[in-house]
Amino acid sequence: MRAGDLSALSPEYVRRIAPYVPGKPVEELAREYGLAEKDIVKLASNENPRGPSPHVRQAIAEAVAGITRYPDGNGFALKTALAARFGVEREQVVLGNGSNDILELVTQAFLRPGDEAVYSQHAFAVYPLATQARGAIGVAVPARELGHDLDAMRAAITPRTRIVFVANPNNPTGTWLSPGAMKSFVASVPQDVLIVLDEAYNEYLPPTHRSDTASWIANHPNLVISRTFSKAYGLAGLRVGYGLMDVSVADMLNRVRQPFNVNSVAQAAALAALADADYMDESARLNFAGLEQLMRGLDSLGIGYVPSHGNFLLVHIGDAAKVYERLLRKGVIVRPVANYGLPEHLRVTVGLEEENRRFLSALREAVGKSGPGES
Ligand SMILES: *Cc1c(COP(=O)(O)O)cnc(C)c1O
Repeated sequence: MRAGDLSALSPEYVRRIAPYVPGKPVEELAREYGLAEKDIVKLASNENPRGPSPHVRQAIAEAVAGITRYPDGNGFALKTALAARFGVEREQVVLGNGSNDILELVTQAFLRPGDEAVYSQHAFAVYPLATQARGAIGVAVPARELGHDLDAMRAAITPRTRIVFVANPNNPTGTWLSPGAMKSFVASVPQDVLIVLDEAYNEYLPPTHRSDTASWIANHPNLVISRTFSKAYGLAGLRVGYGLMDVSVADMLNRVRQPFNVNSVAQAAALAALADADYMDESARLNFAGLEQLMRGLDSLGIGYVPSHGNFLLVHIGDAAKVYERLLRKGVIVRPVANYGLPEHLRVTVGLEEENRRFLSALREAVGKSGPGES
């Protein structure tokens, strides 16, 4: 250990954490490869390529005028709107600095060192991170066809299990569990084990695939639903998400959260975004068209992918590290997922039509296939 290195003072379970690897920022790629930022296409973090609606941008501009004051630490207006939307009590809504915050808060409030949290192999990276940060033990259950194996997850629950995380749809695989499968799983989990149902991509599901999971909480008070404004609502940079849960669970999360965890601009933007149903429908429609465009392009290159229920596609590429690097050189940022146990895949976010085209043409060159008109 280097003199002055104090890392050894940190608990062993913190030192063992493998840090989260975010998508490469546009500015960083521009700096490292001498590219112009405007020529870079970033399809790496599942943001909505349209961003928020004009109506939301207006609400943000107005809220900025008030940033001298602390935000409403209880988020009254936003919680009221969310409670009305989901048919729950305001006291059942907890706001988070992104839904990541909700995931963290559940582990903070409910995990002791040595407790177990169950999640799926290839599931969202924050579940193991948040679990390990509490000195608790993460139990990764082998996936079935890259998706959650709910029967195996149920079987992995022991008397030491406090939390089960389920991502539906899952990131980075895009796999999805039907409402029927989810509902029987929820009913099968012991009442003293919390089920965190992470629905970060719910708004991208077609109406036929959605279900009113919030209404299940009344019969299953151990169910926590987490949602976000980062993905379909286009507000990833503002950091706002929420959880819906039993009042007794919300009470514990509120005790451990920062008193002002969601800033005032984010609260105003989220409130405005909730009212924008038409904009959301159009985003979902564009996403669907973009997914089709990507799938057709990959089909024509003979490259495989996992059918997706989100705004991203998990592409089976072979030497993913090499292809990732080649795409970077062409100014296209996608997401390597080796840290998810998927070294042969890359995750690409659905962009605008032109961005998807840029990705497909860069990919064609990166894998050494010539397209029409090229030799
Ligand atoms: C992006 C994502 C989140 C968290 O996003 P926030 O920006 O923190 O709201 C949570 N779960 C999954 C599965 C995600 O992909």
